[in-house]
Amino acid sequence: MSRPTVLQVGRFPPRFNERLQRDYQLVRLWEQKDFLSERGADIDIVVTSARYGCSAEQLAQMPNLKAICSFGVGYDSIAVDEAKARGIVISTTPDVLNECVADTAIGLVIDTARQFAASDRHVRQGKWLNGQYPLTRKVSGKKLGIVGFGRIGKDIAKRATGFDMEIRYHKRREDPDSGYRFEADLKALATWADFLVLACPGGAATHHLIDAEILAALGANGILVNIARGTVVDEQALVAALQAGTLGGAGLDVFEDEPRVPEALFGMPNVVLLPHVGSATEETRLAMENLVFDNLDAFIERGELITPL
Ligand code: NAP
Repeated sequence: MSRPTVLQVGRFPPRFNERLQRDYQLVRLWEQKDFLSERGADIDIVVTSARYGCSAEQLAQMPNLKAICSFGVGYDSIAVDEAKARGIVISTTPDVLNECVADTAIGLVIDTARQFAASDRHVRQGKWLNGQYPLTRKVSGKKLGIVGFGRIGKDIAKRATGFDMEIRYHKRREDPDSGYRFEADLKALATWADFLVLACPGGAATHHLIDAEILAALGANGILVNIARGTVVDEQALVAALQAGTLGGAGLDVFEDEPRVPEALFGMPNVVLLPHVGSATEETRLAMENLVFDNLDAFIERGELITPL
């Protein structure tokens, strides 16, 4: 493809923005708000992210679009069905972020159970001078349920075995070669587990998969960890369960309406709140950026994506 026109949907970090600007014939959507309605037919390739996505409305304005290269592994913000129906190919950045996201999940398991973030606040606020921090809950040897057992879920399991945890997983189809025990019934998994970690995709199929009933099954001694997508959890039910003490704690990297987080959670020591930083390390973000460019170049040169959805 000779010098295609690439649409950048939203701002990325400077290094990524500069490389896009330098190496491609680029349109920055936020700088030219009417571009799609006036000249959408000029666009050959979209560069976006799990955060910015590419909506069905945007797709409809780009009749000559051929490929979408996305930064991140989640694709719930991209109109995948509409794109596929038109033969538009999509790439994400799988695998290169598994380790960091799995590290984040284990970090949240430990921090929520042992309340390290809250203990740190206890020290900083001078409260140690008035007494010890209350006892917390053990992690090693406990039961870990993983919802969504793909690339990231399996890396979470690998780490948890180092903590001698008993592991079971839930997803739509059993993975007989995984070496871990499958649980077809999500409620049964939540009832069994001490920790329920979410690592499934977002989108309509998993919307509020974790509702009041599942939270009640996890119970007053159970801890929910979400590194998947905020939409997977009924956030109102989660806040209500934590307020009522019918759920033991929650470690959350993702929320239903990011960057807005329910303020009711702010004062709870058994809740850890992260600003969607699962993959946010220098090393992993660079690897993700490089994979976007590798996909972009492979599509331009050979009409093929390296990591197609
Ligand atoms: P993946 O390899 O595609 O794995 C997804 C897993 O979820 C599969 O095991 C799939 O198995 C299962 N699944 C799909 N639909 C399900 C459903 N309705 N109910 C239960 N399980 C379901 O994806 P991945 O690379 O591990 O990434 C997983 C998700 O993590 C991403 O989609 C993204 O939303 C999230 N993520 C978050 C961050 C962060 O910064 N916090 C970073 C990266 C990714 P079946 O198809 O057999 O059900």
